[in-house]
Amino acid sequence: MKPEGTSAGARIREAGGRALIIGGGIGGLSAAIALQAAGWDAAVYERGPSLAGAGAGIVLAANAMKLLDRFGAGAEVRAREPPSGRRRSAPGRAG
Ligand SMILES: Cc1cc2nc3c(=O)[nH]c(=O)nc-3n(C[C@H](O)[C@H](O)[C@H](O)COP(=O)(O)OP(=O)(O)OC[C@H]3O[C@@H](n4cnc5c(N)ncnc54)[C@H](O)[C@@H]3O)c2cc1C
Repeated sequence: MKPEGTSAGARIREAGGRALIIGGGIGGLSAAIALQAAGWDAAVYERGPSLAGAGAGIVLAANAMKLLDRFGAGAEVRAREPPSGRRRSAPGRAG
């Protein structure tokens, strides 16, 4: 029986569970980082042989960046963003 008022994060930590995550895209990797930070043993299974870009850009909204900051990945993502006013339309090409 869980005590009333216990936060979801505390309950997850208490459970100390194991998660198998199918797919190593941004969703799967973010889930793995969040679960590991909450004390879970999380393993990611990706069917692709490597992570390859689709040749398209991705727009990350402010709330997504807040989460990436919480996961400790925000600075790395910002370091890879194209200079202001420029967009990469395909790998290696600026548009
Ligand atoms: C051309 C294009 C432009 C886009 N532009 C934007 C944009 O500007 N902004 C935005 O927010 N989003 C954009 N999107 C959408 C964005 O790509 C997705 O929202 C995002 O990648 C979803 O992440 P995900 O981790 O959920 O899924 P995915 O990135 O699709 O990752 C899923 C992973 O799971 C793996 N997988 C699937 N099934 C299995 C299985 N059975 N076993 C093992 N592994 C499996 C796949 O190989 C894949 O690597 C765009 C998409 C496309 C195609």
